[in-house]
Amino acid sequence: MSLTGKTAVVTGSNSGIGLGIAREIAKAGADVVLNSFSDRDEDHALAAEMTKELGVNVRYIQADMSDGDQCRALIEKAGACDVLINNAGIQHVEAIESFPASKWDAIIAINMSSAYHTTAAALPLMRAAGWGRVINIASAHGLTASPYKSAYVAAKHGVVGMTKVVALETAEEPITANAICPGYVLTPLVEKQIPDTMKEYNMTRDEVVKNVLLKRQPSKEFATVEQMGGTALYLCSDAAAQVTGTTISVDGGWTAL
Ligand code: NAD
Repeated sequence: MSLTGKTAVVTGSNSGIGLGIAREIAKAGADVVLNSFSDRDEDHALAAEMTKELGVNVRYIQADMSDGDQCRALIEKAGACDVLINNAGIQHVEAIESFPASKWDAIIAINMSSAYHTTAAALPLMRAAGWGRVINIASAHGLTASPYKSAYVAAKHGVVGMTKVVALETAEEPITANAICPGYVLTPLVEKQIPDTMKEYNMTRDEVVKNVLLKRQPSKEFATVEQMGGTALYLCSDAAAQVTGTTISVDGGWTAL
């Protein structure tokens, strides 16, 4: 499938799933805007390397997805946004009674509200272009829950709900909105949870991976960033033109349990 001539904006894409999706979309020919809150030389170098390697225009635009104005400014600076991938996300794991309010607010802002702001800014550009794809990276935690992840589960369920509303508001247009719901993918976000879990349960790294992280993933394998990219490409394809307002689980069977 060719996405030549299209521009994709991927929030939170200097690592992990966002970067994996950005790479797959760039390989399909789209120009790509990478994003994160940082403004390091290596962020811009990453864009330059991808431009050279993949032969498309890859730019890095700094914007903090916890700030609504910066979310909207990201789309404005991109100038075009045929494919919007709302991917930026953070995690904090703690019981609800001691869950810090600042972490709650940050998770709701970055994991959920950012998608509202970017979508609101991107839809006029998609309408002007006569084609658009909104792809929200939710989670198995957008469909099910786990203890100690109150803000994350609330935000991801919110993203799934908002996806359906955007799909209905664009239903008669050549624009679709869907959510990808990954199970565990071994990225920095998941890596960060391993040491604390090892301490908490007095387990080795392997035991944490098998008995805690992948406990609810029946395949007992991590999903990969390339698989997330492939799923996003499917949603961009003509085959998915009537796929809107839904979730696609890429979770090794987690939500079948
Ligand atoms: P990651 O930590 O590797 O990547 C998160 C990205 O978001 C990074 O690029 C980071 O710089 C960016 N980011 C964080 N705060 C930001 C902010 N304020 N403004 C802009 N960018 C910001 O994590 P990941 O695992 O690749 O997660 C990506 C998305 O996938 C998240 O929404 C996450 O909830 C979701 N997800 C991940 C998994 C998993 O197992 N890894 C499973 C389900 C869903």
